[in-house]
This record gives sequence, C-alpha cells and structure tokens, in this order.
Amino acid sequence: MTTELSEQQCRTRYEARLHDELRAISQAGDQTGADRRPVMLDQQSVGRLSRMDALQGQAMALAMQGRRDNRARAITTALERLASGAFGWCDECGEFIGVKRLDLAPTVLCCVGCAR
Ligand SMILES: [Zn+2]
Repeated sequence: MTTELSEQQCRTRYEARLHDELRAISQAGDQTGADRRPVMLDQQSVGRLSRMDALQGQAMALAMQGRRDNRARAITTALERLASGAFGWCDECGEFIGVKRLDLAPTVLCCVGCAR
C-alpha cells in the first residue's frame, strides 16, 4: 500500500528542492550565455577549422540550453502542482504517485504503472 503525503507534506518535502534546482538552471543559463551567441565570421582571427569548432561548440551550448529550458518547464509545472494541490497525484489514474518515485523525480506527472 502506498503511503500518501498531504499537500503540506509535499510542500515541505519538495518545494525548496524544486526552487533550488530552478535557480541553479537559471544561473547556468546566465553563465553560459556567451557560448550561445552567433559565431562571427572573422576570417582574420579564426581559421576554417577553428570556425567549425566554434560552430560546433555553439550548437552544443544551444542543445544544452534546450535541455535546461525543458527541465525548467517541468519544475515550474511541479511547483504549480504543489500550489494547486495536484502534486503527487497521477495525471492518468488519479492514484498517489508514491514517495519513493517522487523522491527520485519530483517532476513526474504519473505513477509508475501509468508511465509504462
Ligand atoms: Zn497512474
């Protein structure tokens, strides 16, 4: 049998952690902004190979930011669910998701049975 957490218990257990992660993601985005800037075409200082390196580095930086954006959206959704009282309840079947699963991944929206 799954132990259910009350709304207050969910907030106590997950809210600070979610806010911390959101803050860290936002900081990482700020700190790496320069890596995502367009690569300038400067034939004098940048040779063909290093320009390709720069483009590749920029593409990787953009992909990483895309992952951060997705994660930030998931965390924002979890925080909204905490505020509304929906947090911890499966979107599919309405059962409580379970503390173990939420501890591992507080942004999940459904229980392990529905996730399969
Ligand atoms: Zn479910």
